[in-house]
Amino acid sequence: MTRMGYPFPSQNNYGPYGGVSSGLKIRLIIAVVIALFTVVSYYARPGDENQITGKAERVALAEEADEVKMGLQAVPEMTQMHGGRDPDERACRHVQEVGERLLAALDKKLATEGRANPYRQYFRFTLLADPKTVNAFALPGGQIFMTAALYRAVQTEGQLAGVLGHEIGHVIERHSNKQMAKQQLFQGLAAAGGVAGGDRSSAQMAQAVASMVSMKYGRDDELEADRWGVRLTALAGYDPRAMIGLMQVLEKAGGGSGPPEFFSTHPNPAHREEYIKAEIDQAFPEALPPDLKP
Ligand SMILES: [Zn+2]
Repeated sequence: MTRMGYPFPSQNNYGPYGGVSSGLKIRLIIAVVIALFTVVSYYARPGDENQITGKAERVALAEEADEVKMGLQAVPEMTQMHGGRDPDERACRHVQEVGERLLAALDKKLATEGRANPYRQYFRFTLLADPKTVNAFALPGGQIFMTAALYRAVQTEGQLAGVLGHEIGHVIERHSNKQMAKQQLFQGLAAAGGVAGGDRSSAQMAQAVASMVSMKYGRDDELEADRWGVRLTALAGYDPRAMIGLMQVLEKAGGGSGPPEFFSTHPNPAHREEYIKAEIDQAFPEALPPDLKP
């Protein structure tokens, strides 16, 4: 039990005179205290202001430098998992350049609002050699990856920008960081559930559920990242409707032999398409600006 970091007594401490009911009562009281402490410390924590959006957010790491450090630590493992950096230097440069264009466009927009991107200098866009897995992902602090399989599947530079814009969205909305804060909440509640249940297996079950719930980004996070995909592509001079094309590309990639990994971490592209269309209409109620790149 102490592996969860809560100094509650084990069942054996109640002694021969404790009896079942008083033991249960104590366990319930401790469980309630842990649950209360967990919930109060999660909600009482003052929100940390997101420097890009200005929104107050509950995060596990308030310092951007810590997020960057955490992301950088995971880079070698992530790279290795997908066959290392792609040997095609031209393609690698292309991905980096398009990512850079999106960030430069974001800089301009933030400057008009008197804001700046705290992750700016740490962003890196890496093309991974993996020819089979259709996927892209972002680590906290700005490390963004895309597989060669996805790079080859996209049909236009605008679609490539859509992928990178979506991943930039995950970074600047601090989705992993907020997820970690939630995980701390779930783990505290799982520990409380374990104490109330009184045996190890219920604690383990509760923990397993907690980690399952908090492993993926939520659906809302994915849609929020899509919204950034729409905004950033348009800001950088791409037609944001490329995001719709991208969803069709992803859907097609899923029609082959077995679903690509992208679907295990991202919602159904068909559902996202509707959302993206609505998002474009909202961002450009009159008409799209002229001369956008596809
Ligand atoms: Zn995503």
